[in-house]
Amino acid sequence: MRILLAEDDRIIADGLQRSLRKTGYAVDCVTTGAEADAALASQQFDLLILDLGLPKLSGIEVLRRLRARKCALPVLILTAQDGIEDRVRGLDAGADDYMTKPFALPELEARVRALTRRGTGMPTRIEFGLLTYDQADRQVLIDGQTVELSARELGLIEILLLRAGRLVNKEQLVDHLCEWGEEVSTNAIEVYVHRLRKKLDGGGIKITTVRGLGYCLEKPPVTGDASGA
Ligand code: CA
Repeated sequence: MRILLAEDDRIIADGLQRSLRKTGYAVDCVTTGAEADAALASQQFDLLILDLGLPKLSGIEVLRRLRARKCALPVLILTAQDGIEDRVRGLDAGADDYMTKPFALPELEARVRALTRRGTGMPTRIEFGLLTYDQADRQVLIDGQTVELSARELGLIEILLLRAGRLVNKEQLVDHLCEWGEEVSTNAIEVYVHRLRKKLDGGGIKITTVRGLGYCLEKPPVTGDASGA
């Protein structure tokens, strides 16, 4: 999951970026409305966290332009506590949810989870053969046992699960997992996939390499298989 965070308050931005990264999101930060607008017009994100009071183009204008491009990206706006009018204008301009500053991080994280889930159509819990992915806890279980995954590995299994049975190419993975300024080669992706395969070994999880193209998470065999009957 890739989040664009548009916030000009360094302290808030750093705190948010740190905590969201810890839970496995890739977070790109911009500090002006103009930068946010340019990023949104040229790149794919899964969520926008948008401060309304931004220099060089207001958050409201960024939001209006985004919706004018018919982009359905989920948007969570951040507003000042006394900004009831701002909140109303934000929701009217197409925001999906809002939080007033100061906010509690766990609440913001819960809203982020809800919005990204809605955006991807991903259910809270995915059962995939012996693997269970709990999106709310960002936890992977194999046969009921927790598997310790790094943020990158978690992001990787998430995309593969979302596109199970379909080809996911390496460039898509790089785009989805990496933030700006990160030098992550497609070779590094191979390493992450290799580690993920090892960790999920024993769960009957098969990540196939489609040579030169990318990867595919094979659908698990249907339980109660009648082929032997
Ligand atoms: Ca601000």
